[in-house]
Amino acid sequence: VNYTGKPDISREKSAELYDKSKGYFPGGVNSPVRAFKSVHGTPLFIQKGDGCFVWDADGNKFIDFCASWGPLILGHNHAGVREKVVEVMQNGMSFGAPTALENQLAELILKNNKYIQKLRFTSSGTEAVMSAIRLARGYTKRDKIIKFEGCYHGHSDSLLVKAGSGLVTFGETSSAGIPKAFADETIVVPLNSDEAVKAAFEQFSDQIAAVIIEPVPANNGLLLQTKEFLEFLRAICTKNNTLLIFDEVISGFRVGFEGAAGFYQIKPDIITYGKIIGGGLPVGMYGSSVEIMEMISPDGPVYQAGTLSGNPVAMAAGIAQLTELSKSSFYKDLNNKAQEFTESIQRFATARNYKFKIFSIASIFWFAFTDQEAISSADQIESSSMEKFKVFHRELLNRGVYLGPSGYEVGFVSSAHSKIELEKAKRAIFESLDFVFRGARA
Ligand code: PLP
Repeated sequence: VNYTGKPDISREKSAELYDKSKGYFPGGVNSPVRAFKSVHGTPLFIQKGDGCFVWDADGNKFIDFCASWGPLILGHNHAGVREKVVEVMQNGMSFGAPTALENQLAELILKNNKYIQKLRFTSSGTEAVMSAIRLARGYTKRDKIIKFEGCYHGHSDSLLVKAGSGLVTFGETSSAGIPKAFADETIVVPLNSDEAVKAAFEQFSDQIAAVIIEPVPANNGLLLQTKEFLEFLRAICTKNNTLLIFDEVISGFRVGFEGAAGFYQIKPDIITYGKIIGGGLPVGMYGSSVEIMEMISPDGPVYQAGTLSGNPVAMAAGIAQLTELSKSSFYKDLNNKAQEFTESIQRFATARNYKFKIFSIASIFWFAFTDQEAISSADQIESSSMEKFKVFHRELLNRGVYLGPSGYEVGFVSSAHSKIELEKAKRAIFESLDFVFRGARA
């Protein structure tokens, strides 16, 4: 039982399903973070979602802030998205030939985004970023890339690389199965450090094809960067004929229709997007200027392809979702709602002197058990804070709030979170914080 005297929620059916799934999939899951390794209990198997809610196999209902890791900015099972998908599916699901739907989605994106002129759809964020790196290498005829410690760019070989020790390091692979030669082409530097980036350029200036960054780093906590740092990257890339890649798989269409590029008003050379443009179906894309995109096959020598790229069903979901997002006050309303939510949580924690911060931008937030005013690089995160998150996560589940199962993951407010539900979620968050800092289990 928890301190309110109620037992933990039942996970019996989820646990049964997990027992089975462990026989089918490594760790019982098809993507590692789903396995609840860093929080209490076994993964919840989700049965359905509607609006801001999800229900698990045991019938527990949660206000969901994971939103399938970001794409569901309109909430689960949005009627407009679902109806468009069903309509398009009546005519078949894939042709491996062009359809008008690809043009429609591209128009919707390009007409509302001044940072790119041409794009290519892929089926995941990983593919989009992997292709963007190949494009940058093909265009510049250079091999090395700079990435930042604490940024995630999907699981392609060149990018599953972590920092070694020292300011500028050739990366070390962060997964088995990646040849060292790949990691040798990836230079890993800390976020928010002009000094480290300068040092890397001093050593390798004419070999660096691209600098890739999540302009809103949201995969290792929320490590917000200053506009000045991003501007510095723009300038140093221009000076060295290196391409700047913004990986906006999370921030794209989330911090605004034009993503972080629009938010900070900085023009990268290539942008990658994913998640939100699929409205819950598998889509990614990368875009750039006409000149750079002409390098892509069949126009140019950089090969990139996909059987299901531009798949009509995924395009339909994207068209319906992005049409909603392109309406005039969409982001203002969503961001105001999210800001009220995060500010009142911070007021509560501050009034009680809890070592707790909620960092946020637009409708993305991160619960951090820290008293630091800002966290802008991965090494500032105290790993001991994750023990507190673990308890917090369990208490939130007990009170009907679902967050991604790791303290390094961010949460998302969607347009489907009504003020009433956000109030309920806040109460659950307040009680859970009280429990983390003051409570004891009975
Ligand atoms: N880039 C960023 C910034 C991401 O957040 C992610 C996934 O979360 C990816 C790339 C990889 O996208 P996907 O999981 O669709 O392959």
